[in-house]
Amino acid sequence: MDFRFTPEEEALRKEFDDFFRGEMRNTPPEWGTYMEAMVGVDACFEFHKQMAKKLAAKGWLSRPWPREYGGQEASLIEQFIFNDVMGYHRGAGVDHWGIALLAPTLLVSANEEQKREHLPPIARGELFWTQLWSEPEAGSDLASLTTRAVRDGGDYIVNGQKTWSSGAHRTDWGFMLARTNPEEKRSRGLSFFLVDMKTPGITIRPILNLEGSHLFNEVFLDDVRVPARNRVGEENQGWIASQMTSNFERSMIELFSFLRRELEELVEFCRESKRGGEVLSENPIVRHRLAQLAIEIEAGRAFSYSIVWSQIKSGLVMAAPLAAAAKVLATELVQRFTYTGSEIMRLYGQVKESRWAPLQGRFEKEYQLCPGLNMAGGTSEIMRNLICTLGLGLPRSW
Ligand SMILES: Cc1cc2nc3c(=O)[nH]c(=O)nc-3n(C[C@H](O)[C@H](O)[C@H](O)COP(=O)(O)OP(=O)(O)OC[C@H]3O[C@@H](n4cnc5c(N)ncnc54)[C@H](O)[C@@H]3O)c2cc1C
Repeated sequence: MDFRFTPEEEALRKEFDDFFRGEMRNTPPEWGTYMEAMVGVDACFEFHKQMAKKLAAKGWLSRPWPREYGGQEASLIEQFIFNDVMGYHRGAGVDHWGIALLAPTLLVSANEEQKREHLPPIARGELFWTQLWSEPEAGSDLASLTTRAVRDGGDYIVNGQKTWSSGAHRTDWGFMLARTNPEEKRSRGLSFFLVDMKTPGITIRPILNLEGSHLFNEVFLDDVRVPARNRVGEENQGWIASQMTSNFERSMIELFSFLRRELEELVEFCRESKRGGEVLSENPIVRHRLAQLAIEIEAGRAFSYSIVWSQIKSGLVMAAPLAAAAKVLATELVQRFTYTGSEIMRLYGQVKESRWAPLQGRFEKEYQLCPGLNMAGGTSEIMRNLICTLGLGLPRSW
């Protein structure tokens, strides 16, 4: 593979970099590094929305899409560069659910009317989305979900409960899987719907996470009327549409770049701080642990590059096991990084507002939040199962 970028791609990287470097100076003090602050704190969500508008004005929310829906038909590599830069700056403004998950699905599976209705508001940064998939008894085994959608004239009437719906309390629309044919088993008999979150019958209740932030919600659906024109794909074929959400740029570059920035800050802390009269950066154990993190982050970045390269060469589907591997590698590395960083910082990692808080207590927050990354969008175990079956050709074991 060729690791070099073209001069045009380098110029684009600089443009993204200048933008995020300038704009991310204006973040509210609570702005964190995870989605918890983005949807959990009013000022952060406001900032996120303003950033969405600014990115939309530049056409950067929808760059890879076809022109007729507000895109510029940018290449996967350009999208990769954008994600790389955004991850490094802990950038705001990209609605993960609308842009990264739903839009690629609509582009592949929606009809023309649905594309024209739903893609432009996403490209303009106007509407935000939530994912209504998981249920109390259906997470990894999503195909066992029981929320029912029953056809009634021009509508479906939906009853059921969704859970872990990230940001549902902030969002305008949700994309949902529901069972339309109870006779059919598992993934057969499910349909994919677009649901206006203001529809009567929808009740949203917060689930506070371990460190007290409001990211998750329970969403109760009681006789919710969803117009049949909001069903994406054929009735009972929703599983096919849902699988499209995993078929796009999934190199995890943004997480590796996010870690590169975090490592720079941790190294800076070690240069400036003393323990027992010794500057931390001179302590051999600390130095080696920092070096180990640097090795793993660089290896991860190189792996991301190779994934986007193989997506371009062999297609998104062929690269799916690599994408699953990147998810395991990136999210488990975030965890190792956070644990090591917390050990190095000790109590300084926990202090939030003081001259003794060089990183504003971020490590304590991240320590509590980072296990969730391994679960979101499919756990590490499920990713390993995918690698076994799709990548190594092993038989299914479940
Ligand atoms: C930060 C975060 C954000 C999320 N956001 C959303 C969202 O916006 N919308 C949404 O719908 N859902 C969301 N989820 C839910 C997420 O998709 C589920 O948590 C995930 O799919 C796991 O399901 P579960 O929690 O029910 O665990 P379970 O499926 O009950 O799994 C429990 C344990 O068993 C293991 N396990 C299960 N099956 C197997 C198997 N076949 N082989 C080996 N091990 C197995 C799992 O790996 C896990 O360790 C979010 C979760 C997190 C943590």
